[in-house]
Amino acid sequence: MDREKLFDVIKAIAKEIEAEKELLTDLDNAIGDGDHGINMARGFKAVLEKLPNLAEKDCGAVLKGVGMALVSNVGGASGPLYGTFFMKAGDALKGKMEINAADFLASFSSAVAGVKMRGKATEGEKTMLDALCPAERAMEEAVEGGKSLKEAVSAAADAARKGSESTKDIIATKGRASYLGERSLGHRDPGAVSSSLILLAIANTL
Ligand code: ADP
Ligand code: MG
Ligand code: MG
Repeated sequence: MDREKLFDVIKAIAKEIEAEKELLTDLDNAIGDGDHGINMARGFKAVLEKLPNLAEKDCGAVLKGVGMALVSNVGGASGPLYGTFFMKAGDALKGKMEINAADFLASFSSAVAGVKMRGKATEGEKTMLDALCPAERAMEEAVEGGKSLKEAVSAAADAARKGSESTKDIIATKGRASYLGERSLGHRDPGAVSSSLILLAIANTL
């Protein structure tokens, strides 16, 4: 993926988030405060506005810029978490003008590790990590198996979707949904769904 493709990917993510804003908000209405779709759409709108300023930058700096726009504009729990995600993804791609499958995996792994650290959370707590962690494993397996970047991200998107579905069966122990305890059962976690949508948008653009 060259930088032009990276910009296409970022625009596709923003489009997907805007299109699914209501779904994300409905999901957050059930087990949170009903703002996840609004938060994410506001953040990615700011990202789109910032993109022209990033046109001359390398892939790492572009993603770092995306992360910074998210931190300053998303708000809520997900702002710092997705902000960290993209900033860490960028750190791992410093100076690169192209991203191959191994680069993408390294960047994604570093991003997921950043989310874990920032949110002091692990898989199984009904958060975005329940989409991101299975996605990371699927991507790793695909890359190690010699698959292309598109194949690896598609496998990751599929695993993320399954992971986001499985959050229905998890009692939340992190974030707002944890206030509900067992009443969080039966609902998908909004952040896990947004993570899965982001991966789907990337896979479809590659
Ligand atoms: P808020 O809960 O502050 O309103 P959002 O609604 O935008 O923020 O985001 C909620 C999402 O953030 C949750 O669905 C969950 O996926 C994610 N989240 C919350 N806390 C954590 C955490 N500690 N680690 C990882 N993800 C988290
Ligand atoms: Mg919320
Ligand atoms: Mg909120």
